[in-house]
Amino acid sequence: MKTILHFLLDFLFPPSCPVCKAHSSENGVLCAPCWDKFNWIGDPKCASCGYPFPANLDLGLRPLCPTCATGKNVVDFLRAACVYDDASKDVMLPFKHAAALKYKNLMSRAMINSLRELKTETGDLKSEKSNVNLVVPVPLSYRRLWKRGYNQAALLARPIAKHFGVPVDVDSVLRKHRADMGHKNAKERRANIRGVFNVRRPENIKGKTILLVDDVMTTGATLYELRRVLKRAGAKKVYAVVFCRTVRAI
Ligand SMILES: [Zn+2]
Ligand SMILES: [Zn+2]
Repeated sequence: MKTILHFLLDFLFPPSCPVCKAHSSENGVLCAPCWDKFNWIGDPKCASCGYPFPANLDLGLRPLCPTCATGKNVVDFLRAACVYDDASKDVMLPFKHAAALKYKNLMSRAMINSLRELKTETGDLKSEKSNVNLVVPVPLSYRRLWKRGYNQAALLARPIAKHFGVPVDVDSVLRKHRADMGHKNAKERRANIRGVFNVRRPENIKGKTILLVDDVMTTGATLYELRRVLKRAGAKKVYAVVFCRTVRAI
């Protein structure tokens, strides 16, 4: 319920849409036309990796995409709030390359919303809480971090970890600097990223169910490699959530 103070603040500083600056219901919340531009991922989708299926496809209660059906999933459970396209690019690119931190709340809220089925899908129905123990933002190399001044994945990870009531870990995994991957295909990206991460505190990882956080997923090579090193360090399960993902025809 809004208090008189809230009404007064709304009157003095009207809430605006973070994308187009038009009037919005609440600060940091998209106006309806901007909301409609996004390709939000709903049902039907792959129960494991969240790959969106065409609306008319009826694959039963727990549909799996061909990749997950053959056990080749990038991580044990994956969700994305929306598809990486022109609309999400407008939010993503300034977020990555300048201090457009005004999008942080919008993105993290959408990501939390996309994790609704985390509990049912990962089999922890007895507990009221999710079975995630630790949130790990996809690390940046020191060189990138120095240049950018912040890790956008870490900014998103904080409100998500708060939602689950678990800590954020930005120290246990390091990333070596490696030249930009450009427009390489999935196979080349996987080869290029192999060995780039190093778990320097395996004691923080061992036995944990970890939720990785990143802003965008393209080929999935980064998340795949992180899962590999985290599992080798003893992680029980590795899940991931991104704001947007590319969706290729399968
Ligand atoms: Zn707008
Ligand atoms: Zn899938």
